Amino acid sequence: MINNKVDSTKIIQERADLIKASTEEINKTKNLSEVYDLMDKLNESVKIFYSHIGCKDECFLCCQNSNIPTATSLEWSYLYEFILKSSDDFKKNIIETNQKLFSTHGSYLKRIHFSLNNDNEEFKLNELYDTLPKFKGKSCIFLKEGSCSVYDSRPGKCRTQGYSLMKFANNVQFQTCLPENIKMEDLLSKQGNRKVLMPLWNDYEKHIQDLSDSDKIIFSVLPVWLFSHTKDNMLIDQVNISPDFENILSEF
Ligand code: SF4
Ligand code: SF4
Repeated sequence: MINNKVDSTKIIQERADLIKASTEEINKTKNLSEVYDLMDKLNESVKIFYSHIGCKDECFLCCQNSNIPTATSLEWSYLYEFILKSSDDFKKNIIETNQKLFSTHGSYLKRIHFSLNNDNEEFKLNELYDTLPKFKGKSCIFLKEGSCSVYDSRPGKCRTQGYSLMKFANNVQFQTCLPENIKMEDLLSKQGNRKVLMPLWNDYEKHIQDLSDSDKIIFSVLPVWLFSHTKDNMLIDQVNISPDFENILSEF
């Protein structure tokens, strides 16, 4: 009994140390697969300290509403490998879902794509504030029958949702939904300080960019990545990490 207690105290301490050292741990990973494994391990560690977090196990609400997750070219390559190995029915289904989304929201997706890749932060923010609300009530194209159909290959943003902090315009905020944010703020107010044991999304993001082979990192949302790999209602055979987006999105 005493030994079990010592063991669990040791595990809790190890997990706390892992989260505190997350910046260094993330920088040690050598490829995207290792980054994703570390994200899972850090998520599990975060959950030990904030057991109320409802993401992933039971909840896909983010994916059901306004969800157009971003991915770098490296993450898209990883996901596209999975898609290419999937069944023809699956491919047909995601192409159709994506075309439907483009038929109503193509111009907004185009604006989001070009704003994500624009260095002017003010322009980017204005564009995102204007376009993102248009996706209210729109599910992610990979949400099928209430769960993620590309779960093992989903991008880092989806993996770390709810379990990370995000630095944005010099503010650090929880990368989560409003109800979870309220729960976390309640907890911080009870604990009497704003110390949080969570990794920073920006560390993951920077390292994923560092791991990329190409000089210019391209960001896009999953519908745009998929659209750039669809030709004549079929998926192209190989991943293209730098599609000619100007041309591909010119009709919108
Ligand atoms: S952030 Fe909120 S809505 Fe999204 S998965 Fe987590 S609990 Fe669900
Ligand atoms: S890729 Fe999967 S986890 Fe990410 S938003 Fe889409 S359905 Fe949700």
